[in-house]
Amino acid sequence: MPATLLDGKHVAQLTETDLAERVAALKAKTGDRTPVLATILVGDDPASATYVKMKANACRRIGMESMAIELPASTKTNDLLREIEQLNANPDVHGILLQHPVPSHIDERAAFDMIALEKDVDGVTCLGFGRMSMGEPAYGCATPQGIMRLLEHYEIKLSGKHAVVVGRSPILGKPMAMMMLQANATVTICHSRTENLEAHIRQADVIVGAVGRPEFIQAEWIKDGAVVVDAGYHPGGVGDIEMGPLVDRVAAYTPVPGGVGPMTINTLIMQTVESGEKAFA
Ligand code: NAP
Repeated sequence: MPATLLDGKHVAQLTETDLAERVAALKAKTGDRTPVLATILVGDDPASATYVKMKANACRRIGMESMAIELPASTKTNDLLREIEQLNANPDVHGILLQHPVPSHIDERAAFDMIALEKDVDGVTCLGFGRMSMGEPAYGCATPQGIMRLLEHYEIKLSGKHAVVVGRSPILGKPMAMMMLQANATVTICHSRTENLEAHIRQADVIVGAVGRPEFIQAEWIKDGAVVVDAGYHPGGVGDIEMGPLVDRVAAYTPVPGGVGPMTINTLIMQTVESGEKAFA
């Protein structure tokens, strides 16, 4: 059987059609109001600016408004916290995205945790993470939630499977592992201090690469029939997993690009629409 391509671009497009209808229904109900995503960009990192632009474009595609807040690189933590407080208090804003990384002098965790839970559509607060981990309602962190949605769309079974997540960052590896645990997988989390990484990966029914190093996870470590999710993206269309030799012998895999990336943005806008629907209910 040929491997299933976990086509994030396709799933994101399908979802956008549905989201556009939901936004149109909200406009009809509220006299032309839409959910609003506020994006905060601190500094002038070109990659971050591009990501923010892509998110604003996704909002536009589904007929939803966004509000761009651009702050200088010299912004202090307290200034950023005040900005977020104002957005929390603004009834016209339904979701808040703080583009990260922020400049290193800023306390990023404090900034994330200032975001009100009901507007944490990127799923970055400790409170949201804790609630999600306990199976309580909260918006999932966008990248791992996007991966879960992608696996669900292709009916990839997680229950009882051994999932190995390589990476434990607060916005990817850790929430990914907790989401897979919630879905009844048996989860191993690997990181830079893990011994015998290869031996752990060899056991994986589902492997998630979230390392940030090009093709770090070697194809020969991955068993036949595994489900392979590559969250990495590096110049030249390369991910964190050496995918080339795998495509003929695994059950399913995410392409790079076009796998995880589109699902991340799609999850962010989907969760903003949900937040808007709750606010306008
Ligand atoms: P990160 O914060 O740099 O975390 C990398 C993780 O990999 C850390 O937990 C680190 O372990 C682990 N690691 C580093 N070297 C390792 C090694 N030799 N063996 C095992 N583990 C190792 O990165 P991130 O933000 O989670 O991002 C991971 C990847 O996903 C990147 O390629 C990034 O570009 C991509 N990404 C994609 C999207 C998307 O929308 N497509 C979104 C976010 C991130 P320690 O904790 O021990 O340091």
